[in-house]
Amino acid sequence: MAAFRCPECGYVYDERTGNPREGFPAGTAWADVPDHWNCPDCGVRDKVDFEPVADGAETSSPPTRG
Ligand SMILES: [Zn+2]
Repeated sequence: MAAFRCPECGYVYDERTGNPREGFPAGTAWADVPDHWNCPDCGVRDKVDFEPVADGAETSSPPTRG
């Protein structure tokens, strides 16, 4: 399962939760979302503009410079 973020407003589509209000029940894969679908929050960006979100709680360790 993956998530994708709208670069315009920050809305995140998560495949695990889907978006029932938009007609995508929980578990709807990103691939099943129509290409012409646009962001439900800002309505500016289309599906193709969404960016993948790193899954899980990824801990980024700062670079150690001495
Ligand atoms: Zn948006």
